Amino acid sequence: MKIVLLPGDGIGPEVTAEARKVLERVGSLFGHAFEFDTQPIGGNAIDDFGDPLPPQTLEACRSADAVLLGAVGGPKWDDPNAKTRPEAGLLRIRKELGLFANLRPIQTFDFLVDSSPLRREIVAGTDIMFVRELTGGIYFGESGLKQEGDQEIAWSTMTYSTYEIERVVRIAAEAARGRRKKLTMVDKANVLEASRLWRRVSARVMKEEFPDIAYDVVLVDAMAMHLISRPTAFDVVVTENLFGDILTDEGSMLPGSMGMLPSASIGSDGPGLFEPIHGSAPDIAGKGIANPLATILAAAMMLRYSLKLEAEAKAIETAVDKVLAAGHRTGDIARSGETPLGTTAMGQLVVEALSKE
Ligand code: NAD
Repeated sequence: MKIVLLPGDGIGPEVTAEARKVLERVGSLFGHAFEFDTQPIGGNAIDDFGDPLPPQTLEACRSADAVLLGAVGGPKWDDPNAKTRPEAGLLRIRKELGLFANLRPIQTFDFLVDSSPLRREIVAGTDIMFVRELTGGIYFGESGLKQEGDQEIAWSTMTYSTYEIERVVRIAAEAARGRRKKLTMVDKANVLEASRLWRRVSARVMKEEFPDIAYDVVLVDAMAMHLISRPTAFDVVVTENLFGDILTDEGSMLPGSMGMLPSASIGSDGPGLFEPIHGSAPDIAGKGIANPLATILAAAMMLRYSLKLEAEAKAIETAVDKVLAAGHRTGDIARSGETPLGTTAMGQLVVEALSKE
């Protein structure tokens, strides 16, 4: 199995190195031959090739089984007048690989619950899988700007087709099947025509193909409230691009630290792209103190969704749980009195905690 590693910028290379060590150990434990191919992306690729997504990187990704990304960006490439920016590489790779579904698990860890902005009794036990449509809707619909008299008028259009809705609802329903068998679809069907199409198409797909999954719908304004008043009520949540963008950021605050949260972007066929949700953290880059767990958990998602290795994915998640349960912390999640570990020490503990059971 060929895995392309895109370490990127800032702490990206530090955290992907730890994920690679974990994957190598999984390979030897379970008898898989993972072949790694490291390629440039982001700011360093602009420096070396004048392009945040050089052609050889894209080619390598296209022929891979899965892609694991660190993070891109940093102050060095922030000049607003620059010809190109690191983030352009990220947007392009998602588009080129046809990654239309973004999966973001929002899970609370008991030891972190008191760092959540919400009270423990509300947030403890939260375990939501958000599935956000990633390549359609208002971010990609027709938009424009015109002048009428002394007024400027701008418009952006939310556009969806039956096919775009069906394929992402199927991914969400499949995910629910492997979890607590409950799917919530979020829309604004009382106002938006595009949402009314989502509602019809989702209901049909669920009735015809997933009768075993409990299915309900919630309006997006209500969902924004439910997410902070009763987050434990949800299992899998599927929604369109703009609503998903906002709700997943709201959701990422619940666990109390971003350094633990992975994300996956997948398409119909071809490799998926797996990454931590945090950025390149230039403030701590090169210090060896970044938390590698989000990237290690992204590697677990990669095994589950792209390589279909469920037992191996679980083994990584269990190893991370064990290390945390034993009280090991990096600086971002350590509380006063706890001695923080560095990036490689944390990675090594996960490697050592891995087992086949
Ligand atoms: P950030 O996520 O990089 O950092 C926010 C804060 O969280 C910082 O204080 C950082 O030190 C801390 N942090 C983040 N990840 C951590 C980890 N694994 N361990 C410990 N602490 C961690 O967000 P930012 O500062 O807004 O952005 C920095 C750069 O990253 C920018 O150039 C931005 O464009 C880019 N960015 C990239 C991605 C991506 O590659 N997907 C996502 C977000 C931001």
